[in-house]
Amino acid sequence: MARRSQAPGQASLGGAAVSIRNLSKRYNNFNAVIPTTIDIESGDFFAIIGPSGSGKSTLLGMIAGYIDPTAGQIVIDGHDIVPEPIYRRNIGMVFQNYALFPHMTVAENVGYPLRIRGVPRDEVARRVNESLGMVRLDAFATRLPSQLSGGQQQRVALARSSIYKPSILLMDEPLGALDKNLRDEMQEEIKRFQQEMGVTVIYVTHDQQEAAFLADRIAIMRDGSLTQIGSPRELYEHPNSRFVAEFLGEASIFAVKAAIPSGPGQTRIVLEGGTQVVIRGDKAAGPGKFACIRPERITVGSGAATLDNHYTATVRECLYTPGSIRYRVELAGTGDMMKIRVLPQMNTEFFETGTQVDVGWSSSDMTILKD
Ligand code: ADP
Repeated sequence: MARRSQAPGQASLGGAAVSIRNLSKRYNNFNAVIPTTIDIESGDFFAIIGPSGSGKSTLLGMIAGYIDPTAGQIVIDGHDIVPEPIYRRNIGMVFQNYALFPHMTVAENVGYPLRIRGVPRDEVARRVNESLGMVRLDAFATRLPSQLSGGQQQRVALARSSIYKPSILLMDEPLGALDKNLRDEMQEEIKRFQQEMGVTVIYVTHDQQEAAFLADRIAIMRDGSLTQIGSPRELYEHPNSRFVAEFLGEASIFAVKAAIPSGPGQTRIVLEGGTQVVIRGDKAAGPGKFACIRPERITVGSGAATLDNHYTATVRECLYTPGSIRYRVELAGTGDMMKIRVLPQMNTEFFETGTQVDVGWSSSDMTILKD
């Protein structure tokens, strides 16, 4: 069988393309991953997000090689790696628990993957220096892991996982153990690192903000299957289901009671409370579907009345937080509730609970969800 193997120490040229074909995992009668097909381009930063138990780690484990698939193929640069053992896959891995060897120094930890591949000692020393430079830990080479912070330990793990220049790097919640500030810092570090290495990254997280910051494309998993794949922007602006719309950011979502064609490229729909709304385009709306609008697409106060959907509403909740004002308003006559987010500027009006306000949005800002 043809094998895509690399000589120890040989650098790969950028990342590999990964094609997952009808890959599935069944435990007794339980489908942890339903047959799944994904194409990931070379050098892509691909994030897999979804609630706990949705199958993210199982999918990653099959790519890494420590979980045997029930069926399907994982084709890397044209070659199915499913029959290959872990050590032949040329895949780097970084996990939440850094799994550093506590008795080895930083340099020994980072050089370990090369030593077990039989790379000569001076070559190991040179590449350890280079790798530690990449994660800006040159000055820490002789320390033990216990003498480092959590973020520094994770950078050591990153240097170690990539020292043999794998063409794919798998990361499973790598920042899960870090506090918020450190997570933000490490996200930038990982992004820069991936861009410099040109490696293909498959990154599992339950944190949608993190995925949106890092990834070129995101796959959302639910109950063992992928519900939608797209760029962060596509998923946010064109979610195909309530699940995706709610998983990725905030939204006001309503069951559609009726839809009446009303002129070219335009439909009038009736929301669950009875609010009539004009939507644009050939969106197939009708009973059984849902209408969705993001909170920052709604104008409140001056300017609202000039938009093609505009209503009177009562503020039921208002919350001022640094950088944004959030409202929940109830539309007059129907009781339909809308979530609104305003990015305050110098003279932005603030409406207290109980105030009557004008709200409005453009007919192109409401999307239709299939379920
Ligand atoms: P996630 O990473 O999204 O939290 P996992 O991939 O870890 O989800 O798990 C997916 C589902 O498969 C879960 O319901 C989990 O309980 C089940 N599962 C995982 N490993 C096993 C196993 N070894 N035996 C039986 N069920 C498992």
